[in-house]
Amino acid sequence: RAKELGRNNFQFFSEDMNHSILEHLSLEKEINEAIARQQFSLVFQPKISLFDFGITGVETLIRWQHPEKGMITPDRFIPVAEETGQILEIGSWVLEQSCRQISSLIRSNVLPEHAKVAVNLSARQFTDPHLLQRIRSVLEITNIPPHCLELEITESTLMEDVESAIQIMQEIKKTGVAIAIDDFGTGYSSLAYIKRFPIDVLKVDRSFVMDIPEDKNDMAITAAVIAMAHKLSMTVVAEGVETQEQLQFLRQNNCDEGQGYLFSRPLSLGQLHQFLSENERLKDNNDITL
Ligand code: C2E
Ligand code: MG
Ligand code: MG
Ligand code: MG
Repeated sequence: RAKELGRNNFQFFSEDMNHSILEHLSLEKEINEAIARQQFSLVFQPKISLFDFGITGVETLIRWQHPEKGMITPDRFIPVAEETGQILEIGSWVLEQSCRQISSLIRSNVLPEHAKVAVNLSARQFTDPHLLQRIRSVLEITNIPPHCLELEITESTLMEDVESAIQIMQEIKKTGVAIAIDDFGTGYSSLAYIKRFPIDVLKVDRSFVMDIPEDKNDMAITAAVIAMAHKLSMTVVAEGVETQEQLQFLRQNNCDEGQGYLFSRPLSLGQLHQFLSENERLKDNNDITL
């Protein structure tokens, strides 16, 4: 295109930038349509106790079924929605839907009473002045006990403004809702802050788990993070557990819970029902038991 415009035309944007700005604009418009036409749905990924292989809860993950483009992954549209502010409306929907679904699963005894639903919060949602009010009203509408809800916040979100993050977290804690730090190890948090954050759960990022047992450094880091988190009274969840070797290493190092394709991919509500009824069998499965 630069050539067609001739050599005297000044190009502000490189071809790549042009492309991404255009894609961004059309995504913004399509996200609005997606909200209006209810193209979003939730899937649920089980979290498994590494002590007894029982289910401890589920993380809800958003999906976008686009009428022409098919499934669009959250990594592509969440950052755009975050930038445009559309994440507030989407996030509100995710929070309420997650609580509704978990509430019916607990009430019908499909999930154990202590099971939690973990919902991802983006940076903009976390700093939204209406967040607390929203959490309180969702707990009330869906009638779930606060201890059944856990909010996953990434390390980088917390580091944007540490002092106000601590305040918001303390307010969340007062409602009885638990806080998990997501993707731990990928941000730039300093240990001086970690000890001041009221964190219940630490999720070790998949990038550290991925190369176990080949990468000795990742193994050292993972083991040290688990030990540190336990000293700070946090529960540790390993993300992206895919192999027996990883599971074995995590168990040897007292990691509390695991999440990953080895146990289950993210599931639709129907599939989750199926998974839960088979969970007893999973516990006895030789593929997973050491
Ligand atoms: P996350 O919160 O760290 O979620 C874990 C991601 O890892 C999910 O990707 C999940 O499908 C994937 N995963 C789980 N186990 C394995 C495994 O064993 N191997 C591999 N390779 N991947 C695994 P997904 O669903 O594509 O979500 C990506 C990210 O998008 C999430 O990362 C989260 O940051 C964001 N996201 C998803 N749903 C929501 C939402 O409702 N709200 C917000 N704000 N962000 C969301
Ligand atoms: Mg998460
Ligand atoms: Mg994560
Ligand atoms: Mg991650």
